[in-house]
Parts: sequence; C-alpha cells; structure tokens
Amino acid sequence: MVDLAGQYKKIKTEVDSAIEQILTNTSFINGPAVKQFQTNLEKYLGVKHVIPCANGTDALQVAMMALNLKPGDEVITTSFTFIATAEVIALLQLTPVLVDVDPQTFNIDPDAIERAITPKTKAIVPVHLFGQSADMDRIMEIAEKHNLYVIEDNAQAIGADFYSKDGSIKKAGTIGHIGCTSFFPSKNLGCYGDGGAIFTNDDELAEQLRIVVNHGMKVRYYHDYVGVNSRLDSIQAAVLDIKLKRLDEYTEARRFAANYYNTAFAASDKLKTPVTAAFTNHVYHQYTLVTHCVNRQKLMEHLQSKGISSAIYYPVPLHMQKAYLDPRYTRGDFPVTENLCKTVISLPIHTEFDVETLEYVTSNVLEFVRD
Ligand SMILES: *Cc1c(COP(=O)(O)O)cnc(C)c1O
Repeated sequence: MVDLAGQYKKIKTEVDSAIEQILTNTSFINGPAVKQFQTNLEKYLGVKHVIPCANGTDALQVAMMALNLKPGDEVITTSFTFIATAEVIALLQLTPVLVDVDPQTFNIDPDAIERAITPKTKAIVPVHLFGQSADMDRIMEIAEKHNLYVIEDNAQAIGADFYSKDGSIKKAGTIGHIGCTSFFPSKNLGCYGDGGAIFTNDDELAEQLRIVVNHGMKVRYYHDYVGVNSRLDSIQAAVLDIKLKRLDEYTEARRFAANYYNTAFAASDKLKTPVTAAFTNHVYHQYTLVTHCVNRQKLMEHLQSKGISSAIYYPVPLHMQKAYLDPRYTRGDFPVTENLCKTVISLPIHTEFDVETLEYVTSNVLEFVRD
C-alpha cells in the first residue's frame, strides 16, 4: 500500500548520517533531536505546544488522562475509525458513545453528535479520517455550547488545512483543546518505528500533558499524578525532522496520485471517488473508493493476481467488534458506517508513484469493474 523503501532511498544520506550521529553521541532518549523536531513541528502546525510521545494510541490516552476524565464520563466518537480511538476510552473506563458518519466524507456527523449528548458527556473525539478534516467549526460550536472538550484524532490528516468560516486557515489537529497524531511508518509523516505527538495551544494543558507522559512527575522523583512512560526516541525524532521538511512535497505527491485515480474512475458508475468537504483540503492518507454493485472480494483477488495491493479500512464497525459489543448498540444502529464497511476499498497511495504505475493500477481496476 505504501513505498517506504523508495522514499528512503531519496533521503538515505541525510537519514543515515543523522542516525549515525545519535549512535555516536548516545543521546538516545530526550536528546537534542527530539527538541528540534518538536520546535519545527510547532512551527509547521502553527501550534503553541507539541508534546512528543511513543505512539498515536498513547497520545489519545494521555490526552484523556490530562483532561482528568473519570470512569463513567461519556466520550463521543465515530463508529467508523481505527480501533485505537475507542480503545483508550474503554481502557480508562470512560464510556464510549458512538455516532454515525457523513456518507460523503466518512467523517463524524455533527448532527449525530448533538443528538448523543447527555449530562454525562465530557468530550468529543472527531477523527480526521483518511486525510481530511472533520467539520471542526460545527464541532467546536457544539462543544462550546455544552462545555465539552474536543480531542482531535489527527493520526491520518497531518498537514491538512481546515478553512474556518471566520476566514482563518488552521492545520487539522490544532483546532480542538488537544490534537493527537501518530508517526507509525505508513502515516503521512511516519518514522522508522513507533512515534506520536500531542498538540495544544493551552499552556496549562501542555504542562499537564508533559507531566502525564513523564510518569506523572514534575519534579524528579516526586509523583503528583498517576502517569505513563511515553517518549519519542531521538532516532525517530531525527528521521521525522528530515521528513517534516518534505511533508508538503509528500502531500503533493499523494494528491497527484489521488487526482490521477479520480480522473480515471470519474466515468465509472460502480466506483465513487473520494469527496472532499468545502471546509478542508485532503492529504490522502488513504485513497478510498465506495463500490456499487461490485464483488469487492473478487476485485481484491483480481488486483492481487496483478501484483496490486488493496485493503479494506475498515471491515467491521466499532459497535460490531467482539471486544466492544455493548447492549446499548445493535446491528443497524449506524447504517452509514455499516454500509461503508461493506462497500469501501482502498488503493495503494504513497509518495513514490510514477504515471505508468498509476496507469497500471487504474486500468486493472477498470478492467474488473467493466466486466
Ligand atoms: C494509526 C492510528 C492511530 C494509532 O496510532 P499508533 O501510533 O499506531 O498507536 C489512532 N487513530 C487513528 C485514526 C489511526 O489511524
């Protein structure tokens, strides 16, 4: 689905020398590379504080811990996302309240959020799925009206712009009280192992987040809170700093591939190409088609036989996952999500495509859906 080896080849000299420097000076943990990446990411995102951590799942968990959410508090999130979003809610014994998504953008439906609010609701976790921002103007309005926190799960949309109706342009992940991201290798800004980060513009929250990621400790060996150990290591930070400089270029390469796919599939009545909402641009973490009257399994097998990867993000809605079955929910509760789980297919998308490869992928997809 991605070509990380091809991408590495182009930055090999720079990456190898940065890693070698850390191996030599042994600043593996909290070295200068971490601070440098943190500062550069703050600048890139236009956000006051970036708190690096060990992965995107930790970022979400730490955010909820720093907001002092308590067992029984309700957290509203989408039924169509990667499990990590709901997992940390469950782990902290908060109550996940799921809502359906918009059928065009696959992002959380603000009207459904409003309907799900109860006196126990404490936070909303929108996920900027596949690379475009959720409707943050509406979500922030709802949050303000009901006095709720907003934690953005920005693991898939780093670099995407949100165009607010007040005329400002903000980076996805910097609009809510806290934003979370993942630097998993295949994410748009990925390292060569695990990594994550938390964003906020609030000084007090930033301090609390820094305490939670560091064992609940402000003064060394004095633990005022129960925290976790979640760090971005120096080698990963050095790799990320090199890739951050190229992030906009990488995004352009993804957009080129997505536009190529869009053009090729435009005429097919069996394939619905991604729809970008007017209030955001798209960084195409995934390129996801909705199929119509297509045997999806057979299409995937056909592509596989031609050496083309494809994937289903996501095959099972959160409320139908075995570990998350809950008497509050049943099949049919989230019809948009359930229909997407049955019909979506994601094609390879990355930074290293050439036109011949894109042509090869599209012609093989079209060959199958024409039959
Ligand atoms: C990847 C991802 C995460 C988790 O990131 P990890 O670094 O793998 O823990 C969380 N939420 C979403 C939507 C993701 O895509």
